[in-house]
Amino acid sequence: MSLVRRCSRTACGRPAVATLTYVYADSTAVLGPLATYAEPHCYDLCAEHSERLTAPRGWDVVRLSDGSGPSRPSGDDLEALANAVREAARPPERAAEAGGSGQGPQVTGETRRGHLRVLRSPDS
Ligand SMILES: [Zn+2]
Repeated sequence: MSLVRRCSRTACGRPAVATLTYVYADSTAVLGPLATYAEPHCYDLCAEHSERLTAPRGWDVVRLSDGSGPSRPSGDDLEALANAVREAARPPERAAEAGGSGQGPQVTGETRRGHLRVLRSPDS
């Protein structure tokens, strides 16, 4: 277990600088400051992948300031929003998963691809 958070993209081992949270109920992807803990719907991204981020079709991307941008007047409000959507996105079966083999957060490649495959087929 490393204390350094890494980018969750396949074949990318750079240190993570931001956390992406998928809010399925609102079809919104929220990119904000690095989360203090990992959750199934959160993915850590390095600076490069944060810049390149694109949302699936029909989704909105909300980018939260990390505090370094003085042009944002309501950073605190936006951070509160990010926390709120993380709470809302928390799946009900999380407790069941946590009681398993003690292998840590479920951020495996299979899990991530499974989510994306679902997102890419909104119709037909
Ligand atoms: Zn990366």
